[in-house]
Amino acid sequence: MTRSEALFEQAKQTIPGGVNSPVRAFNGVGGSPLFIEKADGAYIYDADGKKYIDYVGSWGPMILGHNNPQIRQAVLEAVENGLSFGAPTELEVTMAEKVIEMVPSIEQVRMVSSGTEATMSAIRLARGFTNRDKILKFEGCYHGHADCLLVKAGSGALTLGQPSSPGIPEDFAKHTLTAVYNDLDSVRAIFAEHPEAISCIILEPVAGNMNCIPPVEGFLEGLRTICDEFGALMIIDEVMTGFRVSKSGAQGHYNVKPDLTTLGKVIGGGMPVGAFGGRKDVMQFIAPTGPVYQAGTLSGNPIAMTAGLAQMDALCQPGLYEELNAKTKRIAEGFKAAADKHGIPLSINQVGGMFGFFFTEDTNPITSFDQVTQCNMDHFRHFYHLMLDEGVYLAPSAYEAGFLSMAHGEEELELTLVAADKAFAALKA
Ligand code: PLP
Repeated sequence: MTRSEALFEQAKQTIPGGVNSPVRAFNGVGGSPLFIEKADGAYIYDADGKKYIDYVGSWGPMILGHNNPQIRQAVLEAVENGLSFGAPTELEVTMAEKVIEMVPSIEQVRMVSSGTEATMSAIRLARGFTNRDKILKFEGCYHGHADCLLVKAGSGALTLGQPSSPGIPEDFAKHTLTAVYNDLDSVRAIFAEHPEAISCIILEPVAGNMNCIPPVEGFLEGLRTICDEFGALMIIDEVMTGFRVSKSGAQGHYNVKPDLTTLGKVIGGGMPVGAFGGRKDVMQFIAPTGPVYQAGTLSGNPIAMTAGLAQMDALCQPGLYEELNAKTKRIAEGFKAAADKHGIPLSINQVGGMFGFFFTEDTNPITSFDQVTQCNMDHFRHFYHLMLDEGVYLAPSAYEAGFLSMAHGEEELELTLVAADKAFAALKA
């Protein structure tokens, strides 16, 4: 038994399923999860001392690579001043200004401690502002685990085959309407049925919790038009795509302006941080200026703000996103070339620093949740473990996007593609 396996057995005694977040349990790929001891640059190191090239990046935040020296130094210095004050700090003002500078649709922003809190609060705000109860989301999109958003959700909910969770009263769930991603007709049909009851559309601008599905041409613009027509707010959930797909997120990449944006992951530099922001008239509806209540003991925590700001500052270097995009493209296209070489049907998607690969014979671009669910999961599981044996750590579920970091250098990319070549060859055998 490896040390990771022993720790997993021990963990299961005291932690449900041995993990503090479900996808970590490896249910999507079988086997026992790696327990991680440390991480540096592009690598994570497990409890057995083995190192892996990491394409999970703590599920997105570690865009500069692990244990980045600038972030580490800034955090060490901040710790000297105390861990939390529960009172305003200059750091929070600097953070708000930085977010507004990087994401032009945001005029005011409120910091929270997770992506879940960001989306939950944005939904409450949209409902309060419009005085409407219903929300519209897309099947296969994940926006955290607030009650109203765990209806036909993606990510771990999908991996476990429970996209709608028990524990959410039907009386709550009935206000969440679900449409088909990349299908404007499905959205129009729902609005036709409830023209004056929908407070907002919330969406992932690149769906990253059902693998990696970019929006088809006209989809985001179409949603903007529908929101304007029916007086609903458009909430773009950039918890995953924010500061990853481009400096100004997916909304900058695709040139669409939401009313509200939710952020998480990259904005915290690896610390627990989320944020929601947008139109000033809408944000003014939040307490203490407005009637919609929202609060947090650790919101805007100084250590978390320090880590996030150090990361955001580094992300503003010219040329960084071009380089990240090129690296990610190389991995996605390299996987495809290796699969083709060995006669394994594979499709790939890639936007900025995120990518997805699909074991499918479908030769059309993969743009829908239905196509994802029809992929060959046995191939995925087998490939996953072959790559792990070769020292490459991918997301342990076919419903999650992969992430590159700036610390993935030529050597790591090359090693990964050599591993992929071997893995596809073994899969064919
Ligand atoms: N929104 C999106 C698009 C996400 O990918 C996630 C998490 O993966 C969340 C919201 C929830 O964020 P958190 O896990 O920080 O609560």
